[in-house]
Amino acid sequence: MATQLHTDFIPELPPLLPPTLRPAAPTPMPGKPKKKLVRRTDRDYSQALRRGFQFGFLLWNLYLGRTFYLWVRHFETGGQAPASTRPPGVEGYLPIAGMMNFKYWLLTGHVPSLHPAAMFLLITFLAISFLFRKSFCSWLCPVGTVSEYMGRAGRKLFRRNFQLPRWLDIPLRGLKYLLLGFFVWAVSSMSADAIEGFMRSPYGVIADVKMLNFFRFIGQTGILVIGVLALASVLVQNFWCRYLCPYGALLGLTSLFSPTRIRRDAAACIDCAKCAKACPSALPVDRLVTIKSAECTGCLECVAVCPAQGALQMSLPQVVKVPNRGRISAWAMAAGIAALFLGIVGYAKTAGYWNTDVPAYVYQQLVPHADEASHPMPGDPGIDR
Ligand code: SF4
Ligand code: SF4
Repeated sequence: MATQLHTDFIPELPPLLPPTLRPAAPTPMPGKPKKKLVRRTDRDYSQALRRGFQFGFLLWNLYLGRTFYLWVRHFETGGQAPASTRPPGVEGYLPIAGMMNFKYWLLTGHVPSLHPAAMFLLITFLAISFLFRKSFCSWLCPVGTVSEYMGRAGRKLFRRNFQLPRWLDIPLRGLKYLLLGFFVWAVSSMSADAIEGFMRSPYGVIADVKMLNFFRFIGQTGILVIGVLALASVLVQNFWCRYLCPYGALLGLTSLFSPTRIRRDAAACIDCAKCAKACPSALPVDRLVTIKSAECTGCLECVAVCPAQGALQMSLPQVVKVPNRGRISAWAMAAGIAALFLGIVGYAKTAGYWNTDVPAYVYQQLVPHADEASHPMPGDPGIDR
């Protein structure tokens, strides 16, 4: 039987070193007495829920990708490969088409007939970002999921992720806003007629096939770029999301208007800094009262590691300071994200707006010759701005 130590009965030993050689006991900071920890009693499910969403969405995307590939192969082989139905969800990978269609809808009041799912998915992710910070990135985005797990692999390999020095980190973070600015400028300078002309061009109709073919027939330069990004994501946490993703930049800017934020109660906080250490966006959570940054992805990792009762939570603004009022639990956040996604996509489906309205014979002509469809330019017929 294992011997059990009863430390309560071990008498206190006299110090072996003379007082001058003993390390000095940490002196409390003047004016900052050590706070007493009131330990959390609730069990945290935020990361289990988040992982469930991440992998559920990743699997759904893999299913979409496979179904879309089979649909493309059917047309490429002249009907010899089995027929498959085109999954409109792949239009989530056409964010520029989503922005163009959103503008078209705002200008004309008509839901576009080509790639409408791109617009509904963009609206869904904007709505999620408005209500729950940039949580699309940390709860749903397949690229974000892969990137997160590459960072974890890096931590296993090197026992840490590296952080770029501040003088490099800040300008690099601006890159994604520059890319976003370029796309916003391109879309904002198009009229409704120009958007319709673009969508009805061969390139616009099979933009999703072009996207798939880019990855299917990727060249050496593409492989090199993806390889460098993958390596960077292993070394630096969320490299792509933090520095380069224009979609994340758009959602981050939207999240600045969100009423929900991570809020820290300085009275309950014991200044252990575990939250800041856990934050994948490297935000100084332990030193702020409210996290307003566009980099906050609502991942709740900071909340998950916080040991103090009521010190850190995602919440609505507190008009009256009552503990837990306005708190948004991980369950509420998960339910909200799911409700927005299923609600908006469900509405588009039941209202008949979800599917792209293109007859099969048009795809029969265009899909096998996708490499011949070039990007329409200003001045091309129907693309006047
Ligand atoms: S502040 Fe918290 S919720 Fe926001 S990114 Fe950092 S860990 Fe995630
Ligand atoms: S994890 Fe952050 S908020 Fe929670 S007690 Fe420690 S420093 Fe305070």
